[in-house]
Amino acid sequence: MVGWILKKILGSKNQRELKRLMPMVRRINEFDEQFKNLSDEALRAKTAVWKEELAEIPDLENQWKRLDEILPEAFAVVKNAARRLKDRQHSFTVCDQPMKWDMVHFDVQLLGGVVLHRGRIAEMATGEGKTLVATLPLYLNALTGRGAHLVTVNDYLARRDAEWMGQLYDFLGLTVGCIEHDQEPNVRREQYGMDITYGTNSEFGFDYLRDNGMATTREQQVQRGYHYAIVDEVDSILIDEARTPLIISGPATISTHQYDKWKPLIEQLVRKQNMLCNRLASEAIEKFEQGDVETGGRLMFKVKLGQPRNKQLLRMMEDPEKRRAIDKAELSFYQDTRKEELFALKEELFFTIDEKSNESDLSEQGRAFLNPDDPNAFVLPDLINEFTEIDLNSDLSDEEKERAKTERQEHCDAQAERIHNISQLLRAYCLFEKDVQYVIEENKVVIVDEFTGRKMPGRRWSDGLHQAVEAKEGVQIDRETQTLATITIQNYFRLYQKLAGMTGTAETEAAEFHDIYKLDVNVIPTNRPVARRDHNDRIYKTRREKYNAVINEIRDCHTKEQPVLVGTVSVEASELLSRMLKREKIPHNVLNAKFHMQEAEIVARAGQPGTVTISTNMAGRGTDIKLGDRVAARGGLYVIGTERHEARRIDRQLRGRCARQGDPGSSRFYVSFEDDLMRNFGAADRMTRIMERFGLEEGQELEHRWLNKSVETAQKRVEQRNYLIRKRTLDFDDVMNNQREVVYTYRNETIDSEEPRTLIYEVIDEAVPAKVKEYLEDDEPNYAGFIHWVNTTFPLGLTKEKAQFETRTLDENTRFLIEKIKDAYERKSSHEEPTAVKSLERYIILNAIDRLWQEHLYAMDALREGVYLRGYAQKDPLIEYKTEAYDMFVELMANIKNEVLNNLFRSTSNLQAFENFLATLPQFLLREHVPAAPARAHHAQPVGAMAGIAADGDGAADVTLDLPVRRSLPKVGRNEPCPCGSGKKYKNCCGRVA
Ligand code: ADP
Ligand code: MG
Repeated sequence: MVGWILKKILGSKNQRELKRLMPMVRRINEFDEQFKNLSDEALRAKTAVWKEELAEIPDLENQWKRLDEILPEAFAVVKNAARRLKDRQHSFTVCDQPMKWDMVHFDVQLLGGVVLHRGRIAEMATGEGKTLVATLPLYLNALTGRGAHLVTVNDYLARRDAEWMGQLYDFLGLTVGCIEHDQEPNVRREQYGMDITYGTNSEFGFDYLRDNGMATTREQQVQRGYHYAIVDEVDSILIDEARTPLIISGPATISTHQYDKWKPLIEQLVRKQNMLCNRLASEAIEKFEQGDVETGGRLMFKVKLGQPRNKQLLRMMEDPEKRRAIDKAELSFYQDTRKEELFALKEELFFTIDEKSNESDLSEQGRAFLNPDDPNAFVLPDLINEFTEIDLNSDLSDEEKERAKTERQEHCDAQAERIHNISQLLRAYCLFEKDVQYVIEENKVVIVDEFTGRKMPGRRWSDGLHQAVEAKEGVQIDRETQTLATITIQNYFRLYQKLAGMTGTAETEAAEFHDIYKLDVNVIPTNRPVARRDHNDRIYKTRREKYNAVINEIRDCHTKEQPVLVGTVSVEASELLSRMLKREKIPHNVLNAKFHMQEAEIVARAGQPGTVTISTNMAGRGTDIKLGDRVAARGGLYVIGTERHEARRIDRQLRGRCARQGDPGSSRFYVSFEDDLMRNFGAADRMTRIMERFGLEEGQELEHRWLNKSVETAQKRVEQRNYLIRKRTLDFDDVMNNQREVVYTYRNETIDSEEPRTLIYEVIDEAVPAKVKEYLEDDEPNYAGFIHWVNTTFPLGLTKEKAQFETRTLDENTRFLIEKIKDAYERKSSHEEPTAVKSLERYIILNAIDRLWQEHLYAMDALREGVYLRGYAQKDPLIEYKTEAYDMFVELMANIKNEVLNNLFRSTSNLQAFENFLATLPQFLLREHVPAAPARAHHAQPVGAMAGIAADGDGAADVTLDLPVRRSLPKVGRNEPCPCGSGKKYKNCCGRVA
């Protein structure tokens, strides 16, 4: 009862809305009538006039207002053009097939066009000609010159529709493009530059990711904005694919590591230090035994500085008395008055390691050990002084001065890189223990999560640390690979200023479209009354009985030459049916949505007399099934569903494949109590009771419209559950989406900036004060640590005396340092080519953004898993996630700035590296690799390296794409086995020329 009232209200709301649009249809047809007298040129001229007029309107809102005004006239122009093409029997080829234009927009199609223009979803049944409907709003919205996109479910449909509808656009003087997956960036850019662009959702999405997450200059970007998109088969894209993100993974940046080179020396150094520390620990034990607690504590503090994981130290830390002594020693050394002493203490070691801050530092001894000839090999030179000296040296010509500076600069870069390498190796040896922080598996270093103890394959420590650990363990030093960019398809589509969709089945999901995408659904009536007969479900006890009944039914149809389309929910079910049919010697085709183009050809022939076609639900979608001769008299196409899908929508879609445009046709579903839906969602219980009442025998079937209702109730329950899951996923994704917007905006700002140095200076102005605070704000400012940081980050060669930090306030120190850094930076870049310096500056920022953002992506993933575990503690995981994600994001932005500082004078960011990076960039934009099998895992491992790219160490940028989205595979050769699985050659089977 309630359902009926609800339907009445919903139905009438839709009807009211459509009624209001009817006058519009009348006006379109009036204009169409008028235009019949125009010449081709006069009709076409309207396009240019409107385009010019709209170009004069500066803002989008007013452009859209104007579009609303000209809608009736513009739609009429398109319809009129379609008639002209039909009248002159315009012929052309689409995907190499000859075709004739035979369509003029029906009134219901005009109606659908208006709905699409308004940014809504038009539900129009299969075969109603949605491809043609889209031409109307695409034409209208493209007049703004901002581009209009049509999104299809596969490559083949994108090309087909672009070529097919292109006839109309071409006639009207609009350009049309098509994005295909093997296109190079410059081709893509050209296609996006067209008035109207067709393509698949994954191509659009990946282009967005590459443009915003990877391209380093404007020229490398291919898209030009997100104005208006119509998504075809919108339910499958926005609902079915809602949980699988698009992921691009690959090596992040170039690293010029020398871990191999330094490993043997570091190993010796660490051994020496460990021996030293063991000796110190033994001495300490003696002292403790003698009662000299103070000396014992002091010795052990030294051990702590040099080998924080020393076994004896760890044991002593468990003894309260000794622990107190060690802590006391530590405290006393950090008193201001003993700074010198502490320094001296450190100098007795080869290096020190700070577990908390994860930092390591070589002492004089250590430096001498590593580089006996050049004790200064591990500090950054004072570049300012050196440059000044060079400038003042009157013996040198200008050219010689330049050369000398470049040489000093390179020297400085090399020092910086060396310091970084050694410090990472020391950390790898002293702070990271096998089988604790990581394990070795299949010759790889696999991180172990500290908190859960879970192995985390695929994750890597950043900034070269992972490679350092690999060097330590003697396993293959991998290039850094990680998620470079990721976005969910829905979030991509939310970028559009106006979004519309069309499909045969949206109504059942109207609430979801409304809540999540703010898309309302209008159901457009069919052009002719639907003549399809939907039979009651046939219900069996077991699967076996069900399949036998299906085969019998197919045989009957086959005998009387009625074509049958059999829908399955899985590839396995398709294969099972195919085997059964083979046994019965019934010829048939099997489609699994793998070879879009070939499958489309097969489906197109599914309406021929006696044809049997087995198809999963996505296969051959979007292709029209025309009835063959005399088929109408036999009842038209018969659609058999072999299982009810979880969602009613998918069942409706399958039924909709027959009875297009008023054709005859019928459909029936076969169900068994063993089907997943029946077992899991309670429909079976009720039915078992009914069945017992009727006394159902083996092989017998049940059939009644009440039973259909039971099945639908079960479906609604699943739909509801799945909706909640999707909504939840999206709530989580929203958090990330906001962050992505901020980061991508910063990135694009950097790319577009004419004066990137101002951005660099902004970073210095923001990051330096934070560092000053970090070290000096305390009651006991850490001057030594601060100077150390300064000198390992910038080539300033500051000494305590030169710096005089203690004589100034925090602000003064900040200003003092900022000035010095900028000065050094000006000098460093003054002798380089200005445009190169600009590129380099952009690169330093982009590099920092990219590396840390990618790392952040991983961390966010981990967080997402983590909060679910915490969910048990009565907390809302989403709120937890939001709070922590916010904190992590703040940290990310701070880290990006620090990274820029760190790289200002570091070699990985030198010009050569930058040029290498650029040299590899077009390649990885070009040579994306498509794995044969779609990887469904959330952040799946990259699927193998691409062929053809030089695998010569870290420089080669091979980027692999993890495609959770299916793509068409390469064309099948005529002599290869047919993809349908018949065992015959393709040319003798599905590839046979009809
Ligand atoms: P849908 O995408 O809605 O399932 P299609 O766009 O694939 O439908 O079109 C289905 C068939 O209807 C096509 O063969 C097309 O040629 C035909 N068709 C569409 N519109 C018209 C029209 N106005 N007049 C004649 N045929 C049409
Ligand atoms: Mg279609």
